[in-house]
Amino acid sequence: MALLVQKFGGTSVGTTERIEAVADKVCRFRALGHDIVVVVSAMSGETNRLIALADAIMEQPVPREMDVLISTGEQVTIALLSMALQKRGCDARSYTGSQVRILTDRSHTKARIRQIDEQRMREDLSAGRVVVVAGFQGVDDLGNITTLGRGGSDTTAVALAAALKADECQIYTDVDGVYTTDPRVVDSARRLDRITFEEMIEMASLGSKVLQIRAVEFAGKYNVPLRVLSSFQEGDGTLITLEDNTVMEQPVVSGIAFNRDEAKLTISGVPDTPGSALRILKPISSANIEVDMIVQNVGADNRTDFTFTVHRNDFRRAQEVLEQVGRDLGAREVNGDTKIAKVSIVGVGMRSHAGVATQMFEALSNEGINIQMISTSEIKISVVINEKYLELAVRALHSAFDLHRPGGEA
Ligand code: ADP
Ligand code: ASP
Ligand code: MG
Repeated sequence: MALLVQKFGGTSVGTTERIEAVADKVCRFRALGHDIVVVVSAMSGETNRLIALADAIMEQPVPREMDVLISTGEQVTIALLSMALQKRGCDARSYTGSQVRILTDRSHTKARIRQIDEQRMREDLSAGRVVVVAGFQGVDDLGNITTLGRGGSDTTAVALAAALKADECQIYTDVDGVYTTDPRVVDSARRLDRITFEEMIEMASLGSKVLQIRAVEFAGKYNVPLRVLSSFQEGDGTLITLEDNTVMEQPVVSGIAFNRDEAKLTISGVPDTPGSALRILKPISSANIEVDMIVQNVGADNRTDFTFTVHRNDFRRAQEVLEQVGRDLGAREVNGDTKIAKVSIVGVGMRSHAGVATQMFEALSNEGINIQMISTSEIKISVVINEKYLELAVRALHSAFDLHRPGGEA
């Protein structure tokens, strides 16, 4: 008999009927004799609704109050699921993050888990109860409610699995596993039986929202067996694993990730002197704006053009800061573009293959798609393109790297 942590996402608990279906599923696992800790998200759309309420009151609400507000969605679902379980004769108890003592740091709206007191859960499990825990939330050392960032219920589940040394952490969602790319964008996307932690971390950080990146990092660090499965249909889903050296024909590219959340800023004609990059980026980081991709190019006139991307939510502020920097440095001009998208190919197989970038650029060029920025690491290549070509680019790359075929490209 196993100890399982099972997490059900927003769509999976989106209506009371679906909550009843989750209860049926959990009861079936209980009937097999497994010990179960369930983590639930808020009903789908609820967290967005709560954020919109806050926005209606003020532009930048105090993060502490934001957490008090947005943590309420999960409190509703733990109670409803526990009732549905009890109705089925399956003893269950609900807990908020604070009650189960998911202790976090004090960074409201993006808190990190520091410690979990698993004693209370163990007592319930020994008494034969299903433990139902609210995802996405914790409590800091001062007793304030904190939240873990959007999609944070995944991280709650993995953290509980690590604390309890669970046999598996199962993430039940509205797709039946991790696909070669978002199956809602590419019809021929294929479910992967396995993906490595490293690849999954890249996919998540480059925009595949199927798992929150912190959850994958946490699972990798604490060696938590992690699986993504469907709430609605049977199947083995996708297992996130350590690198598998026994697979002879590792595909070069395992998946394609993309995101539309970034915007691009360019400051051109900056005198090319030591420290110019610092003078451009320091005010941006002082404004607490994170920079993702960076490209610098020196022209013949000893002046440099500097382009970087930020989250779209930070675009306006970044533009204001950069315009001031432009005036201070005597730059020629400052431009911005919010209509960009980032597309990335990911695969541990790239390590041992040359020419992957060429193949990627060729596929995009064949479709007449212009590449605006490029960045690479050992197991990924990302490009920035015009947002309107995003779906075309993802489909072209999916087919160029044969991702629709099992085993992909060897
Ligand atoms: P939940 O509410 O269960 O946490 P999410 O919406 O956070 O679910 O994540 C599931 C969604 O992730 C899917 O509906 C799918 O559109 C999207 N997704 C993006 N990339 C991928 C991928 N590579 N494989 C599977 N799903 C993906
Ligand atoms: N309800 C939170 C969100 O929508 C957390 C989660 O669903 O994982 O981001
Ligand atoms: Mg999610």
